[in-house]
Amino acid sequence: MDRIKIINLECFAKHGVYEEENMLGQKFVVSAALFLDTRKAGVSDDINESVNYAGVCRSIVDWMQDNTCNLIEAVAEKLAEMILTQFEPVKKVTVEVKKPWAPIGMPLETVAVEITRKKHTAYVAFGSNLGDSRQLIDEAVEKLGSIAQNKVLKVSDYIVTKPYGVEDQPDFLNGCIMLETLLEPLELLDAMQNIENEAGRKRIKRWGPRTLDLDLIFYDDDIIYNERLTVPHADMKNREFVLKPMAQIAPYYVHPVYKKTMLEMLKEL
Ligand code: ATP
Ligand code: MG
Ligand code: MG
Repeated sequence: MDRIKIINLECFAKHGVYEEENMLGQKFVVSAALFLDTRKAGVSDDINESVNYAGVCRSIVDWMQDNTCNLIEAVAEKLAEMILTQFEPVKKVTVEVKKPWAPIGMPLETVAVEITRKKHTAYVAFGSNLGDSRQLIDEAVEKLGSIAQNKVLKVSDYIVTKPYGVEDQPDFLNGCIMLETLLEPLELLDAMQNIENEAGRKRIKRWGPRTLDLDLIFYDDDIIYNERLTVPHADMKNREFVLKPMAQIAPYYVHPVYKKTMLEMLKEL
């Protein structure tokens, strides 16, 4: 990706663990590399095809002055999130926060924290066969999208499907969501499980009736195995109620393990 760089933007702000720092303030120096595709702007010479770096600088300085954090780790985290959410063309950002006057009583040039954060694409499958399923799913989509670090990009049709695994239960309403997210996989799972709990989800029987099930199908092209997560979802290749909505919203998305598109996987099933 191309990069627009902001180097050593000076701000006066009040971040620090000491009360004196929060009252008196000191100098901070912020650098940022904005990763984006500048090809269109390069060809058209039109600022509307790029990001206005003066605007980014203004937002950094305003944010630095309007907020107080203890740690420059937190400052960098919040600045990265602010840049990624406010400036749509920026897909990834590296932020460095320097604190040259850090009160540590030893001569040094500066201390600094540098982090890189990016927008991730997640696909979440939903299902419900208890309560007012349509409304529970509508609410779940709305709640996922209202998290500051998330943006709902696409929602498939809700399809009525026959129960899977345990067949003696009501039909399901199923579908998939394409999400842009700044959350890490386990943070996203936490958010999904909170929403399931708020919908009154009880885990009584495996594959049994439920008010709301939210499963993480893909997270970028990542392959994740840990106590709480298997991604890509382990059983998706056998599930028409996942593959059909996926083929609708992301027909050419390639499964990172099977190397097949959603359309191909649906056809094979
Ligand atoms: P299935 O995952 O086969 O559709 P389920 O959705 O009914 O079954 P749940 O009761 O919703 O299963 O979740 C059981 C556990 O599965 C969760 O506590 C979660 O930690 C774990 N899990 C593992 N991988 C995933 C994933 N990709 N998405 C959601 N939960 C997952
Ligand atoms: Mg499930
Ligand atoms: Mg689940």
